[in-house]
Amino acid sequence: MFSKVKNYITENTGILIRIDDIAENMNWDIMEKSELLFEKYSIKPVLGIIPNNKDDEFLAYSKKNDFWEKVRDWQDKGWEIAMHGDTHVYDKMCNKNDDYFNYGGGSEFAGHSLDTQMLRIRNGLKKFEDEKIKIRTFFAPNQTYDKNTFIALKNCEINEVLDGYGLMPYAENNIKFIPQLIDKVILLPFGIQSTKLQLNEWSKEDFNSFEQFIKKNADRIITYDQALKKVNNSLIYKLINILSKKILRLKRIGIDKKSEFNV
Ligand SMILES: [Zn+2]
Repeated sequence: MFSKVKNYITENTGILIRIDDIAENMNWDIMEKSELLFEKYSIKPVLGIIPNNKDDEFLAYSKKNDFWEKVRDWQDKGWEIAMHGDTHVYDKMCNKNDDYFNYGGGSEFAGHSLDTQMLRIRNGLKKFEDEKIKIRTFFAPNQTYDKNTFIALKNCEINEVLDGYGLMPYAENNIKFIPQLIDKVILLPFGIQSTKLQLNEWSKEDFNSFEQFIKKNADRIITYDQALKKVNNSLIYKLINILSKKILRLKRIGIDKKSEFNV
């Protein structure tokens, strides 16, 4: 009995490395170091690419001219390329109650009409298509979604979202969600989670902490396909997710905001 429980926990515990805000203009120094680290430990991250970046914050970084060739190389290595918005410009404010995940704040999608949201998704997908990059998963800038975002995604044949509540991947309204709960890089004792890494903001110390985390937890780091395989609406998963949702709606886990890392 005890070994069965132990096996169940082991099979259902893992972390997926999701990197946000990858664009032609970014902190390439940290990105290149991270790439070497992933190679060294055979890690296949999910890269959230902004197809038509117009966000001033990122435009301030240096530009990589062969960026799309680089993205194709990453995809050839089996890294998952996700669509992270279209331009990453927030031109709406949405309040907590209108936001599917109850964060609220600046938004590129939530709060806009279905037509506008579809136009933006199509525009982003066109860029990927032109560059011969396959996209099956999406996550929105600033994690803001409304009902129309999910309708627009489905209309554009994207049925996977790398965001969500809960401790386990789940399906809702025919969309598969891989949860991203915690701002810190931390391996929970149970559950399948994704990180949310914003490399552009990292210092050298942040990178060193991340390296320590990878070294320590490499055998618990999963691929996007492994996470997808865990999408399951069994009763036990549902109960786990309902419980974690309730707790998290009360207080989003920020734990100790001083550092993104817990190694
Ligand atoms: Zn972003």
